[in-house]
Amino acid sequence: MSGSKLRSLVERLGGLIRTEQRSAGLDDQLQPVHQDVLHYLARCNRYSNTPAAVTEYLQITKGTASQSIRVLERRKFVLKRADKQDGRVVRLRLSLSGQRLVDKLRQRVSWQYLTDEIGSADLAAGELALTKILKHLQQHNKFRSFGQCNTCHHFCQQSPNKFKCGLTGEVLQLEETLQICREHMA
Ligand code: SF4
Repeated sequence: MSGSKLRSLVERLGGLIRTEQRSAGLDDQLQPVHQDVLHYLARCNRYSNTPAAVTEYLQITKGTASQSIRVLERRKFVLKRADKQDGRVVRLRLSLSGQRLVDKLRQRVSWQYLTDEIGSADLAAGELALTKILKHLQQHNKFRSFGQCNTCHHFCQQSPNKFKCGLTGEVLQLEETLQICREHMA
């Protein structure tokens, strides 16, 4: 397949996913960007749960990010608190109702159902190709990778169930090793 054909497919998929997302959010009066913020907060780790990281990951303006976060906070899907070490930094997390909403939104889109119908070898090949393109694009534009923790250069596995971040020196729980991180280094 040519690079331009692949790009057309990615663009088409992006448009269709956005359309599905718009209709999935109708019942809860959520715009796609609100859903993007919720999905990001459901996946990111404790070093990446700030408004600045939301802005950077979603490649949106600060104004759009803070407006979206305000809407979600007002509707009690997102909770804000000051960082324990630096009171000027705001930390965000999903409330219980925010987490439930994310689960509900995931079920409303057909992606999971459709990809279940594709063989695992095709899925793995697709993932590999798209991951490579994403990595090159991020490097080319000097964007952060926001990769999964257990693939990071700083990730240390000390024993089967003991993990540590080599950058901060802090212990990581098993579930944190699967989250995405602003400080991730490939
Ligand atoms: S190991 Fe890397 S990805 Fe994981 S928390 Fe540390 S800096 Fe982030």
